[in-house]
Amino acid sequence: MSLAAGDNPPAMQRCDLPFLASYPASTLEQVRALIARGELGAYLARRHPQRHDVRNDGALYEHAMALKQRHLRNAPLLAKVRYDNRLQVDQRALGTLTAVSRVQGGQLKAKKEIRVAAVFKDAPADMLQMIVVHELAHLKEREHDKAFYALCEHMLPDYHQVEFDTRLYLTWRVLEAAANVTQVTPPNADKP
Ligand SMILES: [Zn+2]
Repeated sequence: MSLAAGDNPPAMQRCDLPFLASYPASTLEQVRALIARGELGAYLARRHPQRHDVRNDGALYEHAMALKQRHLRNAPLLAKVRYDNRLQVDQRALGTLTAVSRVQGGQLKAKKEIRVAAVFKDAPADMLQMIVVHELAHLKEREHDKAFYALCEHMLPDYHQVEFDTRLYLTWRVLEAAANVTQVTPPNADKP
């Protein structure tokens, strides 16, 4: 159960905006226009100015538990919450909720564990919260259905907009990284 970039892998591979593959074509056109005008970074900075201090796994666990206590007190226990560097490499999964089964005292016990892509260590505060909220909601709702998204919106009003903006943010980071590579390798750099 992961927050993936799209439910249609073949379409995603063709798409120039892989994080946004599940959005309508008209929306993607608007995003391309924003990128073409060079305004994506400014849009994100304006809408999501607040950073967060959740820098390590301990702080991330506290952050998730505080949300769970406030909104999902009766949901199953959460054994672990941590950042995962490998999720950063596989850009389709932004967060996961897994049940790790262990035999304890002769009984099989499933321990729930949330992993958040390490890229969210320096993302805006509400984007980190969106990922945590998404995975917490899976403690109660398995599918991405109406009940699931209602729970997400309950924990984070404006959930859908923040998820969309998070996908814009990930797109922007890839574009910025590509631009920086171009800058540090100027044309004819290897010629005397
Ligand atoms: Zn999910």
